[in-house]
Amino acid sequence: MPLVTILDEMKKAQAVGYAIPCFDTFEMHGTLGIIEALEGQRAPGIIGLYTSMFSRPNPEALTNYVKVLSEASAVPISIILDHGASFEHCIMALNAGFTDVMYDGSKLPLAENIATTKMVVRAAHAVGAGVEAELGHVGTGRDYRAFGGQQKGFTEPDIVERFVEETGVDMLAIAIGTAHGLYDGDPVLALDLLAEIRRRVEIPLVLHGGSGLSDDQFRAAVAGGIQKINVFTNLAVLSRERMLAHAAHDDVSLHSMTAEIRLAFRDECARLLEVFGTVGAADA
Ligand SMILES: [Zn+2]
Repeated sequence: MPLVTILDEMKKAQAVGYAIPCFDTFEMHGTLGIIEALEGQRAPGIIGLYTSMFSRPNPEALTNYVKVLSEASAVPISIILDHGASFEHCIMALNAGFTDVMYDGSKLPLAENIATTKMVVRAAHAVGAGVEAELGHVGTGRDYRAFGGQQKGFTEPDIVERFVEETGVDMLAIAIGTAHGLYDGDPVLALDLLAEIRRRVEIPLVLHGGSGLSDDQFRAAVAGGIQKINVFTNLAVLSRERMLAHAAHDDVSLHSMTAEIRLAFRDECARLLEVFGTVGAADA
């Protein structure tokens, strides 16, 4: 299908009540697994490419690989810049044909986050791309006990409306108790805070740090108004586990080994699509 912004699919997700996944990829095998899962489950999805690729030479290599496969897919797949580190990275992603960009100014003072997000929105909308920003700060799992677990970095509901209004942003990542990477401790979601934020703005809300949440927590987040869920770490962990298990077999080749990455991504992405309620949404 043609590569377009995910925003129209987001509206459908919001109306019906499911979440669209953003699965990150760094290489070819995981990408194949993600697309197989989306096609198999007849679900729309987003492939996320991390901002660090724009600090390295030839980011168009992986970008084009993902673009060609996404465009050839029978379900809607969009490509987002994940955690865009600067205005420049966002422009590079738009120039490379990303359908959407996330600008992450969540560690900056509010005024600066607003100012740069606003510039990114202006540039992205000029070429028909959607923009996600982050308000509050989703920390890392290894700091969870001291940060997210203490409700540090949580999105302040009082500034959400102002942020959305002043920036014109299309989707908002919020901090309600998740963290990136593996959790030190058990994640606790502040569903009351999610409800409060959901009451104040209408744009799709995004949950980062999905790896490590239980299926019930995912379902509660979706029921509470989350429309986009980012997952990567668990896909990497499962890939590693499958490769280690496979390595113990007698007949291991490079191809059979790397196939385990594709299969790990495919199986877990397909499972998460069921949890998120997204199965069949591409046909609705
Ligand atoms: Zn994230």
